[in-house]
Amino acid sequence: MDRMRYLIDTLNRWSYEYYVLDDPTVSDGEYDKLYDELRALEADSGVVLPDSPTLRVGGDPIEGFTKHKHIERLYSLDKAVTEEELKSFDEKISRSSAGVPVYTVEYKFDGLTICLTYENGYFVGAATRGNGEVGEDVTAQVRTIKTFPSAISYKGKLEVKGEAVIRLSVLKKYNETATEVLKNARNAVAGAIRNLDPKATAARNPEILFYDVNYIEDGSITSQRQAVDFLRKNGFKVFEKMRVCKGVDEVVDAIKEIETERLSLDVLTDGAVVKVDDYSVREELGSTEKFPRWAIAFKFSPEEVTTKLTNVVWQVGRTGKLTPLGILEPVDLCGATVKKATLNNYGDILKKKVSVPCRVLVRRSNEVIPEILGATETFPDSKTVEKPDVCPYCGTKLKETGANLFCPNLTCRPRVIAKLSNYASKDAMNIEGFSEMTAGALFDVYGTASYADLYKLTKDQLLKLEGFKDKKADNFLRSVDSSKHRPLDSFIYALGIDGVGKRTAKDLAKKFRSLDPLMTATYLDLMTVNEIGEVLTENIVSYFSDQANINEINELLRLGVSPEFAFEKRGDKFSGEKFVLTGTLPTYKRSEAQKIIESLGGEVMSSVSQKTTIVLAGEEAGSKLDKARALGIRIIDENTFIQLIND
Ligand code: NAD
Repeated sequence: MDRMRYLIDTLNRWSYEYYVLDDPTVSDGEYDKLYDELRALEADSGVVLPDSPTLRVGGDPIEGFTKHKHIERLYSLDKAVTEEELKSFDEKISRSSAGVPVYTVEYKFDGLTICLTYENGYFVGAATRGNGEVGEDVTAQVRTIKTFPSAISYKGKLEVKGEAVIRLSVLKKYNETATEVLKNARNAVAGAIRNLDPKATAARNPEILFYDVNYIEDGSITSQRQAVDFLRKNGFKVFEKMRVCKGVDEVVDAIKEIETERLSLDVLTDGAVVKVDDYSVREELGSTEKFPRWAIAFKFSPEEVTTKLTNVVWQVGRTGKLTPLGILEPVDLCGATVKKATLNNYGDILKKKVSVPCRVLVRRSNEVIPEILGATETFPDSKTVEKPDVCPYCGTKLKETGANLFCPNLTCRPRVIAKLSNYASKDAMNIEGFSEMTAGALFDVYGTASYADLYKLTKDQLLKLEGFKDKKADNFLRSVDSSKHRPLDSFIYALGIDGVGKRTAKDLAKKFRSLDPLMTATYLDLMTVNEIGEVLTENIVSYFSDQANINEINELLRLGVSPEFAFEKRGDKFSGEKFVLTGTLPTYKRSEAQKIIESLGGEVMSSVSQKTTIVLAGEEAGSKLDKARALGIRIIDENTFIQLIND
């Protein structure tokens, strides 16, 4: 009984923070763990105390909002986390008249339940689920959302149900400029809609994804499939990927699909909802106090957890940029043990209210290291994180550029290691057998700090390093040598320009086709490259205007590094054309122009004759140009050539 009391009190406190304040202090996983323990205790003892959270749906409406009584009660969902639990749910259903039941399997969006009422074909009001019977009237707030219809073709009284969500990308954008970050998409949307000021709702840009018809006056809907069809036809946004499954095995397969697919969605999901399709079977099965017996939520392992942050350390990256890293008490996140997580910069630490120690919410991210979303709790001994003044590795005074701190020392050890490792990596110069350890050893023993230094290493030098035997040294040198002929995009990526990843490097290579025009590219030239924004443009221009970088590139070229743009056959635009190239072209080398012509189906001849169709003339073109004029052959300059190829 003591444990039960403790669990109920704790869960009710957490529920209040979650449902009423929209500001939870623990993750859903932690809540669910205690909730399950309570449920098991109640089942064992047969005792259910009157204030148990297992008896109630959600939280009470908050003061300040007009209360709204739902036409039909809104329920929560029972949950399953294992295949066995799902099968035992199915067994109960199969005992009804359903036989082998037809189920629908949908995404379980993690947002705020919203119920919309329509009369005479018009939207008349919106409410939250609240405690299931009474919710908050949030009509004014929901009116700021543009993604639902204000008039529909159905004219009877209607209540439809959906999940209000804030897309992860929208949340990220919002947080970029917000003074106080919103930690989690679920609480962000709940706080946006349960906000007395509709302007605050609009500022966060929520939308609603619809999944149920809660009440329809003429009772014309008799299955989930019909409900979703009805919603779609009346202009409600539904998530298109509802699966229809016969029997539990198909449900299990559908859930597996959803579990991987969901990781690429822009909307937070915490599971899949399995529902009996046929309403007559639903009626037969009925509901408990809290949830319908004909549906279940299959919960996936949470994408977000809370844990204790014990320290913040600063890492120096390849550009000298310092990135704070949160050291965490190990915690399981989506099947992996997480011990550290990133924060973007010092401003991010302040925005996310991170102190040391504190409790933080951590989210799985597409990057290798998860992301800290924000602090959820501080302790009496929590201390503010200080902004470093000097580099924690080499003691050099730091420089502040924009939101970031930089160590300007080109030979700062971690910076050199990060820089060389990136240069040698597979997608960059692909130097086999090169690891961070190699970079560290080379730096410590020979002071290897620049890219060019790698090409000057000798076998004797390598053999003196730990772990390098004859064969390894030979392979290494061979690999360094073959890195001289890497594709242009790999070389651009290898340079380690701040923010230039593989994709951008490819886009840059495609646009400029050789190193020279990229090195002299202006803001305007760069702005026309796919998805390169202002910050990246700035980074690229400032990288190439730094003489130290230019010297380093020139030294590489002198040592024989010759990145080439891989021309693919891109079309037949020049099919039948016979080109002659003469003079100096301002942008392209003649060999590059030749490759472009050939990639577009044309031919390049060495001298002008009757057969020549186009002469591409650069500066100081000589006799070939005179001959072309005499023969009346079409003559173009490089600008026209560029226009032709880009047309
Ligand atoms: P729930 O969120 O687990 O499931 C019910 C809800 O799912 C419905 O109300 C509906 O809004 C939503 N849903 C999303 N997609 C749906 C779809 N396609 N079809 C039908 N419904 C769909 O249940 P709940 O009662 O709202 O919340 C319980 C959960 O809330 C707990 O399991 C816990 O994880 C979390 N919680 C967390 C804390 C905390 O402190 N972190 C506190 C209380 C509750």
